[in-house]
Amino acid sequence: MRYFIANWKANKNLNEALDWIDKFLNLPSRYDRIKMVVCPPFHLIHPLKLKLRDNKFISLGTQDVSVFESGNYTGEVTAKSLKGLIDYAIIGHSERRKYFQESDEVLTKKVQLALKYEIQPVYCVRGEKDSIPENIKIVAYEPVYAIGTGQNEDVEKVIEVKKKLNLSEKVSFLYGGSITESNAQDYLVNSYIDGLLIGGSSLDPDEFFKIIKLG
Ligand code: PEP
Repeated sequence: MRYFIANWKANKNLNEALDWIDKFLNLPSRYDRIKMVVCPPFHLIHPLKLKLRDNKFISLGTQDVSVFESGNYTGEVTAKSLKGLIDYAIIGHSERRKYFQESDEVLTKKVQLALKYEIQPVYCVRGEKDSIPENIKIVAYEPVYAIGTGQNEDVEKVIEVKKKLNLSEKVSFLYGGSITESNAQDYLVNSYIDGLLIGGSSLDPDEFFKIIKLG
């Protein structure tokens, strides 16, 4: 099973998101060998959930969950409140570590809350030095220099990092960082890599489709 996870980051309003899904669903996709997850900003989760009501193949995820379980934390979106709406949550993305100072301790708490509310964390690491909380089943390696820069990391280097991470065989290992339709195949033909986390190239449904078709 190969994962293709779209990280829309802070992009798209309601109309743009619905338009993306409409266009995507009109493409002749085959999903039997792949797991496709769309991670929009929070405000788009529910409308996309309604839109995908009859679709068994596209799952939804978030790009974060709160470190708090519930209560007086203005602006936070909790795993508890997301239960049943999403199946996955990206946790530990380097942009959150950098711009929101998320520490290992905070990230571990987020992972625990996600798991408690039946949300599968997609845990991002920047390299072999980042620690990985317990019970993680999906790890995404995203070297910071490769994110949004057009400088994707060589497959050999990605595999070296995977080996150093010393993951259990049960953990799925994804790569993310400047994936496009022209470099995706290099990763997908490699049995060490179980899928891709895709930012910029997931914003356009045609571009994303060209990548998932390679899976
Ligand atoms: C990301 O930020 O998760 C990512 C992989 O971005 P991009 O594909 O744009 O490099």
